[in-house]
Amino acid sequence: MLQGVPTTSDFERMLRGATLRVTRPRLAVLTAVHDHPHADTDSIIGVVRKDVGEVSHQAVYDVLRALTVAGLVRRIQPSGSVARYESRTGDNHHHIVCRSCGVVADVDCAVGTTPCLTASDDHGFAIDEAEVVYWGLCPACSTAPSSSVHP
Ligand SMILES: [Zn+2]
Ligand SMILES: [Zn+2]
Repeated sequence: MLQGVPTTSDFERMLRGATLRVTRPRLAVLTAVHDHPHADTDSIIGVVRKDVGEVSHQAVYDVLRALTVAGLVRRIQPSGSVARYESRTGDNHHHIVCRSCGVVADVDCAVGTTPCLTASDDHGFAIDEAEVVYWGLCPACSTAPSSSVHP
């Protein structure tokens, strides 16, 4: 995980560290994911186009897949949601999702660093990820006047 605000050369180093060639679209996508945590593909395409100009959906999908495989980007997909991407990888943090507007926030493991990776019974599996999704209403939605509560 990066500390502070990463610069373009930090992103270039991340790509090289993952043995990915540094290209404009890769840099643009990595920067977009970092600047917009939990953005979906369409939002990322919008941001990337503002940065590098016209780029195809397929090109952005391909870059997202390569970055995900390389571990530079984490793909999350809460049930009922489209895939979203974030640059905070490797810490097994969890997510809280608003049932109403779909906003996503990060949640650290409840105890210590990654206790959820220590299953009570691992059935012999080498576990490398645990996924916990908390569902509820975000502050904006829980204070918004609801039309359905008054019979
Ligand atoms: Zn909400
Ligand atoms: Zn996250």
